[in-house]
Amino acid sequence: MRRKFCAHKISTLESRIENTKTSFDVCIIGAGPAGLSAALWCNELGLRAVLLERRREIGGQLLWIHNKIENHLGARAANGRELREQFAQQIEEAKFDLRVGINIQNICLDKKRLEIADGETIHARSVVIATGLSRKTLGVLGEAEFAGRGMMESATGDRASFAGRDVCVVGGGDSAVENALLLAEVCRSVALVHRGEALRARPQFVKRLNNSPLVRVYLRSKIERIIGDEEVEAVRIVNSEGCAATELKAHGVLVRIGYEPNTKMFRGELKLNAENYISVSNEGETNIRDVFAVGDVANPLAPTISGAVGAGATAAKVIASRLTATTRTQMILQ
Ligand SMILES: Cc1cc2nc3c(=O)[nH]c(=O)nc-3n(C[C@H](O)[C@H](O)[C@H](O)COP(=O)(O)OP(=O)(O)OC[C@H]3O[C@@H](n4cnc5c(N)ncnc54)[C@H](O)[C@@H]3O)c2cc1C
Repeated sequence: MRRKFCAHKISTLESRIENTKTSFDVCIIGAGPAGLSAALWCNELGLRAVLLERRREIGGQLLWIHNKIENHLGARAANGRELREQFAQQIEEAKFDLRVGINIQNICLDKKRLEIADGETIHARSVVIATGLSRKTLGVLGEAEFAGRGMMESATGDRASFAGRDVCVVGGGDSAVENALLLAEVCRSVALVHRGEALRARPQFVKRLNNSPLVRVYLRSKIERIIGDEEVEAVRIVNSEGCAATELKAHGVLVRIGYEPNTKMFRGELKLNAENYISVSNEGETNIRDVFAVGDVANPLAPTISGAVGAGATAAKVIASRLTATTRTQMILQ
């Protein structure tokens, strides 16, 4: 059964699934480049696959890329969304069951069993985890409350709305500094708050930052709270020791403090490294037989679109070769 990623079509289909059990050769979790590639290859190899995505649209981190993409061989795109469209077109004819807006409530990797909202239980012979990364959040008061009311998603996407206003960027790496520079082109003032002793961004970004009269850098500082009434109005910062509080006027706050792997639901079952990335073999297999982890979630050192696409393909091929071998053994025994 093939499902397109159109949200309204999916929800109609979802509403028909109640207390059912469904079996597949492969269950893939996450529809970023790695999961999409695994699903495409499952189709190619004749495996019955289901692809589960928690968001209402596919693409994963591609949806966060606002710059040109010129380093994924075979495709060029003005931004991640455009590349996502190319991927979507390519999977259009592939036969696999794509479900978006899915909330996995329970998972038993050992038994390859997943319970999703609506009472459906999915059984598979193999599982491919392609859950990628999420942006780290501050976890401070006001952050979640002001989502969409001053908490910014990206400088490129949001800067027009904050033109002429005061904003605050949190972080000290390339992403934080690059975003602060972009915002400084249109905003009245930019406060860059970083808890470290020095910025970690590449020297050419830091040099540009030092030459920008609109950006003020607060080192050894952290945000304690985001303040406002209807919308964000200020941030309260403290020094690294947690004292000497100051309030800075800010109508927008952009957090760029790194990424973390989406592995919370697998803790306890899967072997993870110290940073909570999934440990895998050369074939992408985890410590549980027939459970694979592909893409950024298992690749702390070199996360790329090409790497994710390649790992998805590898897992599907390994799974297909094992299932063929099992089927052959069963035929001999009959
Ligand atoms: C700003 C930016 C710029 C980048 N630029 C480049 C570049 O120029 N070139 C390049 O090669 N790479 C670039 N990358 C990196 C690239 O986007 C990633 O390496 C790639 O997207 C990883 O793909 P993935 O499928 O492993 O994970 P992701 O893209 O993170 O996708 C994971 C998917 O899994 C879903 N998911 C998570 N948890 C669950 C769950 N419990 N249930 C169901 N679904 C779930 C997520 O919603 C998401 O859709 C960039 C990344 C960023 C953020």
